[in-house]
Amino acid sequence: MRNADLTRPEALVSMLRAVVGTDQVLDDPDAMTPYVVDWTRRFGGRARCVVRPETTDEVSSVLRVCAEADVSVVPQGGNTGLVGGSVPGPDGPPPVILSMTRMNWISDVDTLSGQVSCGAGATLGSVQRAALAAGWEYAVDLAARDTATIGGTVATNAGGVRVLAYGMTRAQVVGIEAVMADGTVLRHMPGLLKDNTGFDLAAMLTGSEGTLAVITAVLLRLRRLEGPSSVALIGCDSYADALDVMRTAVAPGAALIAAEVMDDTGMGLVEGLLRVHHPLAHRHPLVLLLEVVDGGTGEGFVGLEDRDTVLGLDTGERARLWKFRESQADGFATLGILHKLDISIPLSQLEACAREMSELLARASHVSGFGVFGHVGDGNLHVEFAGPGPDDDRVDRAILECVARYDGSISAEHGIGRAKAKYLELSRSPGEIRAMRAVKIAWDPRGILNPGVIFNS
Ligand code: FAD
Repeated sequence: MRNADLTRPEALVSMLRAVVGTDQVLDDPDAMTPYVVDWTRRFGGRARCVVRPETTDEVSSVLRVCAEADVSVVPQGGNTGLVGGSVPGPDGPPPVILSMTRMNWISDVDTLSGQVSCGAGATLGSVQRAALAAGWEYAVDLAARDTATIGGTVATNAGGVRVLAYGMTRAQVVGIEAVMADGTVLRHMPGLLKDNTGFDLAAMLTGSEGTLAVITAVLLRLRRLEGPSSVALIGCDSYADALDVMRTAVAPGAALIAAEVMDDTGMGLVEGLLRVHHPLAHRHPLVLLLEVVDGGTGEGFVGLEDRDTVLGLDTGERARLWKFRESQADGFATLGILHKLDISIPLSQLEACAREMSELLARASHVSGFGVFGHVGDGNLHVEFAGPGPDDDRVDRAILECVARYDGSISAEHGIGRAKAKYLELSRSPGEIRAMRAVKIAWDPRGILNPGVIFNS
């Protein structure tokens, strides 16, 4: 039954209010401001309203109403995504934003199987803390942990600072509950490690960026707590040098759990932001951060005697050294509205590709500042630059074409979103894109969920 009334904006809002309660539908422009612009301030657009459901049934009813009204829906978690996927695009009819942050329940940790389930709106940090309190650890970690939601990290297949050791989010998802565009609820959360009963829908939804279904709950695999670790900041001359240190500086028996890198521009910006001096004796083109599990003794590192190195062996010192890495995004944000690229390159090609990108940025006269930081152990660099207007993508394209020439990926961990949709063909073949479009049509035939994300049109 089509409700003709729903074509009127006020009728849609009152139907949605009937589902989630009057206070949980925001249509006042001021109240909607934090939801319609993304973290980078580069992406955003108009929305019909923001709907804040609390239960899966409410999500299902909201999607049924929107499907009937033929209004598109942008699922949103903590709105920390960096590719514009969590906010409306600049064109087209305004969508409904479905904010998932009220669905923030966390179950007791199942200490027998090492699993925890939670609502999609639980923050990554709250799940990490719940796991720790039960003597377990959730393996995904990233600097936006206290705002990013589990639903968002699953929808983007987030990476972060522990991928080297434990894999991306997809490796942690054991079960999922999600609502399809027509309101159908899918739930498969038995927590079985062995379960080859057809397609793995949880794996399919992980990394789907809100384009296939709305994730409402997730069952996550936890890890047993590692022993204490040691952190080292090490001055390096180049990416080749940093990779060499990463390869040679870890003692036999110690486990490398993070290998991160920051360039001198990023270090300087963070020093300004935090009003501190970096702790090394000298400045270096690159600073490498390594973390090893070695009982917190520092004995997990070898061969660093002749290098400009500082060690962090207790909780406070480890956190102090990590702060230089975790503040990089905020440090670069002080340059203005940034173009942010998130690329991965085969380790064997990292030095050559990074050099070419750096030359390209230095030559671009309208680039006013640039730098690089990232997860060097994964070959994943974040390239940040300011200067070109938000819609001027000449430098973005040149860098991404360079990455493609080195067999890299144009999106390592942030996703495609709206920002990278026009470059998808640089990393995916026409056949792959056809297959992905067919999947999209099967899940969401009317194209209601997050139009303009992943696929350009
Ligand atoms: P949002 O930004 O709200 O949404 C992201 C995407 O997921 C959108 O396409 C949205 O439509 C979709 N989505 C959100 N919730 C749902 C849901 N319930 N169902 C279906 N779709 C949904 N990312 C990394 O991978 N590694 C990092 O190291 C990292 N570091 C960061 C550091 C900082 C300081 C910041 C600001 C961001 C960082 N990010 C990083 C990016 C960001 O935190 C991740 O992409 C995160 O997964 C987004 O979670 P969110 O809840 O904020 O999602």
